[in-house]
Amino acid sequence: MNDKIIQFLGKLFETSELNRLHERYGGGRIFSNPIIGIAQGDDPIFRKFKEIISPEHLTPFELWLTENQESVPASKLRVISIVFPFVDKIREESKNVKNFRGVILPAEIYSVGRNYANPFKKEICRQIIDFLNEEGHRAVAGMLSESFTIFVKGKFYSNWSERHIAFATGLGTFSLHEGLITEVGCNIRLASIVTDAPLKITLRKSDKPYGNCLYYSKGTCRKCEERCPGNAIDENGHNKNKCYEYGQKVARRIIARIGPILKPHIRCVNRKLRPPTFPVGCAFCQFGVPCMDRNPTAEI
Ligand code: SF4
Ligand code: SF4
Repeated sequence: MNDKIIQFLGKLFETSELNRLHERYGGGRIFSNPIIGIAQGDDPIFRKFKEIISPEHLTPFELWLTENQESVPASKLRVISIVFPFVDKIREESKNVKNFRGVILPAEIYSVGRNYANPFKKEICRQIIDFLNEEGHRAVAGMLSESFTIFVKGKFYSNWSERHIAFATGLGTFSLHEGLITEVGCNIRLASIVTDAPLKITLRKSDKPYGNCLYYSKGTCRKCEERCPGNAIDENGHNKNKCYEYGQKVARRIIARIGPILKPHIRCVNRKLRPPTFPVGCAFCQFGVPCMDRNPTAEI
């Protein structure tokens, strides 16, 4: 079943029109081939996320119950995390820095890819759910669930963190810039599904939360800190408030330039739907750094 899912995903990534850049940027793919990780629904790490993130963070079983009236033992549930790696073309062009009226902006090709990622991720979740249903199983996706919300309560967090879910499935670890460093790097997007399909679990190699980051494992690197124009990274980690403020500056300028080709995104914040926004990213900290497209500690 794991192989079937990988094949199904591979085909979708290849053929979906939603995985295409606007023709102004060549119309090529946004994401290369996905990788997946699978965790067992009752893995104790999901309870630990309630301590680390917030008591509001859902376990797979709790997410399941928001969409299904019929209960299933948590041990029978599987969590599929999917990594969407940006293509090399986007990564290469994004290494260059552009200064626009005093604000350093990301390459437009990345902003478009980052903006188009949301509808594509949702489509992938819908298609995987349909695929599993046809195979006789049930499935739910955090990002499609009406219970999903971001919280802004002095700090930013959500009740279904795709990065933490991916960590639980063994796909990667956290880092100085707070992205998840996987075997295909940190310049990725993530989505996940909870299902009762009997999938084979992909074990975590380690429970060390920062094992793939050169700074935390060797005390070296800090390239992401050098690359960040928002001063949002230092030896203590990533400052979400500073990052958000810089991201807003970027968004205003990028939307002024290419707004008509961007896609709207509706978010639920503090359990209330917000007016549409046009996320365009920033992510200098992910480009031209040792963890951009690989796990830099893999050879160590
Ligand atoms: S650039 Fe270096 S220090 Fe920053 S997250 Fe990547 S590996 Fe860690
Ligand atoms: S997204 Fe931009 S502002 Fe935020 S940490 Fe990365 S480079 Fe800095």
